Amino acid sequence: MCDSCAPSTEMISAEEAEEFGGLSRRTLFAGLGLGLAIPAIGLVAGAPTASAASLMDGRWANPALGHFPQGGHFGASRPGGPHAGQDVTNSTGTGVYAAANGTVIRRAWGGGLPGRSGNGLVISHGHDQYTYYGHLNAYHVPLNAEVKSGQRIADMGATGNVTGPHLHFEVHSGGLGRITDPVAFMAKRGVDLGGGWPRIDPGSAGATVVVLQHLMRKHGHDLAVDGKYSSAAVAEVKRFQSAKGLEADGQVGPATWPKLVHTLRQGSKGDHVKGLQAALNKRSAGLAVDGDFGPTTTKAVRSYQSANRLVVDGEAGPITWRALLG
Ligand SMILES: [Zn+2]
Repeated sequence: MCDSCAPSTEMISAEEAEEFGGLSRRTLFAGLGLGLAIPAIGLVAGAPTASAASLMDGRWANPALGHFPQGGHFGASRPGGPHAGQDVTNSTGTGVYAAANGTVIRRAWGGGLPGRSGNGLVISHGHDQYTYYGHLNAYHVPLNAEVKSGQRIADMGATGNVTGPHLHFEVHSGGLGRITDPVAFMAKRGVDLGGGWPRIDPGSAGATVVVLQHLMRKHGHDLAVDGKYSSAAVAEVKRFQSAKGLEADGQVGPATWPKLVHTLRQGSKGDHVKGLQAALNKRSAGLAVDGDFGPTTTKAVRSYQSANRLVVDGEAGPITWRALLG
């Protein structure tokens, strides 16, 4: 235990433990209330207005699956100063992914940032935006690596001043050292750090739009698969939403995704399988997008589930879909 850590003795509820099925209670308690106190750096109240490029879908991805521990939020009171990031708790070895395209500029203890500890990575995303990943168990990328949004970069761990495994995730916007609330920053870019369905707004583009287009084709909407959420594609989505009794706003979010995805398993064939393969490729699976759910796709699903502490059954159900897309 370090001087600056303020471990919480809060226990999670049985319901929360239930969500994490196979994990022991000890594991779940382990990441609570840790953190970094960063007295030297002031809190930035809000992210600057994002450029059009950084709002493009597919550019930002959920860095890790897990839950928010008590007291692990940005700005949480700590003896040495407010908490500089958002903690995401899961077990050691859980996959950690690049939050956006970028370059690994630090691979060092505490990311070379003052007050931080443990194995850390800093990725530069351009536009003066950076993300920091702390307390890692293992690195999957070298210093100076060019990384893609959603690419596996590390394993979650418990290195440094912690009481258990978790990812300490920071966003710096407007320059390295200018920390901002990662939850709000990511939410503006369609990513729920807590692990919800992503949001696609009209005009966006990217890998998640490709998945959407494949899924829409499965539902009988003849969309081009070009990764662009154009006005023609929006019009088709509005028709789909109306047919499903949803608000026809053209925004693909938590209400629309569950109607679009199918539970898929080995032997499934079609455009929905292409969507799944495209979603797995967002996570560096490197699959051929052929619409045929064979042993290679099963292996990729199992590998993703295992790395993210999901139930490892090789089937793509709603929980796996949500995790892959987020
Ligand atoms: Zn933290």
